[in-house]
Amino acid sequence: MKIFVGGIRTETNTFVSRKTSEVDFRAGDISLANTQNVDPGLHPGYAGIMQAAIAARCQVARGIVAYAVPGGPVEQPVYEALKAELLEDLRRAMPVDMVLLDLHGAMVAEDTIDCEGDILEDVRRMVGYEVIVGALLDPHAVLTRRMLMTANLLHAYKEYPHTDVIERAVELFDICSGIANGGRRPVATIANCGLIGGFPTVAQPMAGFVEWMKEAEGRQGIHSVSLIQSFPWCDHPEAGAKLLVYADDLLSGYEISKEGADRFRTFFEVAVIHALEPDEAARIVRADPERRYLIADVSDNPGGGASGDATHVLRALVAQGIDGIGIGILYDPVSLKAAWELGVGAEGHFALGGKHSSFSGDPLMVTGRVAALADDDGDGARGAVGGPSSGQLALIETHFGSVIVGRERRQALSPSFFTAVGADPRKFRCIVLKSSAHFRASFADFENKILEVGSPTAMNTNLTELPFTRIERPLWPFDPLPPLKIWTIDAKDSAS
Ligand SMILES: [Zn+2]
Repeated sequence: MKIFVGGIRTETNTFVSRKTSEVDFRAGDISLANTQNVDPGLHPGYAGIMQAAIAARCQVARGIVAYAVPGGPVEQPVYEALKAELLEDLRRAMPVDMVLLDLHGAMVAEDTIDCEGDILEDVRRMVGYEVIVGALLDPHAVLTRRMLMTANLLHAYKEYPHTDVIERAVELFDICSGIANGGRRPVATIANCGLIGGFPTVAQPMAGFVEWMKEAEGRQGIHSVSLIQSFPWCDHPEAGAKLLVYADDLLSGYEISKEGADRFRTFFEVAVIHALEPDEAARIVRADPERRYLIADVSDNPGGGASGDATHVLRALVAQGIDGIGIGILYDPVSLKAAWELGVGAEGHFALGGKHSSFSGDPLMVTGRVAALADDDGDGARGAVGGPSSGQLALIETHFGSVIVGRERRQALSPSFFTAVGADPRKFRCIVLKSSAHFRASFADFENKILEVGSPTAMNTNLTELPFTRIERPLWPFDPLPPLKIWTIDAKDSAS
């Protein structure tokens, strides 16, 4: 069997005005078809598909695999060029029996609202209906009819933080090769849950829901069960959480999707990320001086397209007189450059953060000492989800604690950015991380009490405060929870 593997991934925050450019993809990664060593830390989905295909002794044709740190809509010519490269790689590889793509699912270009649907449609047009086309998705995908009509199987990671990418990639390969080897083409049932939000899976009730999905996949005739949470900051007509089930027949697909969606809809309000106001969080930290805290600055997460330089949370903590703060990675190339020019041990004045978005708040003016400099965050920087190197870092010590500033916009995926500059993250009374949920994988053994804190940025957790114009209503939290809607797509529909 001959299989083609490729992928283009980014997550688009449509509320971010700065476009995602070629520079962003190059800073993330563009591995062309002839790249010898594709970085598995950066492309775990692609690596998982390759691993499974090689183990099954398939003939593998590689295509481009590209990733950009989430940001605003992708510049149209950049998207078109990446897609053209992928399609050209596929054309060269044909004939193939199977096309497996490593996608995100919430990529929006300036003039293409549904990039993955667009890619899958072009792939389908090129290979015809006999070839099996499957795609691995991030659960933050915006699942569209166009994607469903053109792919035989869309299979998403189940965990958030995304700790199970490789496992799901191997399953995608296994299910699709089962179909390619003469199995039945499964039918898709989609339960539209009527709601949108972020649902980490590290605690109950979501951890139990992940177990339920796995158990459901073991039932007769069920191939794949994915909760597509949707990316809340992608203003898209088809946004919203959907339970996607692939089954041998419509009835079993319907039963599983209804059972799962009914279950999820009973507890989603408990499971959704609940963000405190910065002042509220600062008061909690001050009131319990014996305790160590970890504040997730969930609304300023570069992993969701935010600028990573917002000062709202830090300002609130400082205003409450809290010290022993360790914050990072604050995206601030200006302070970074100043720190490198001053050198280790020197003192200077810094205007921290507050420079890259109208949502960032004002810079925080401090006098600080450059305590350490580092070229990057070293091995282990990738945490659960992978991600490019942090680039240069600087540790600035000031009256309230330690600020780690960075040259690149990066999510705080693991404690490695602290250790890279010689700081012990366990010594801080209050860690502040620019991350929504992915930090939970690498900080799991920290005893700090976690507080999720939101602010009015491009990832405002209070979605009703953002200027959505394209989402289809009714949708919770904009409206009361609407009735469950279930619909199906039979592969035969798309073949006609
Ligand atoms: Zn995600």
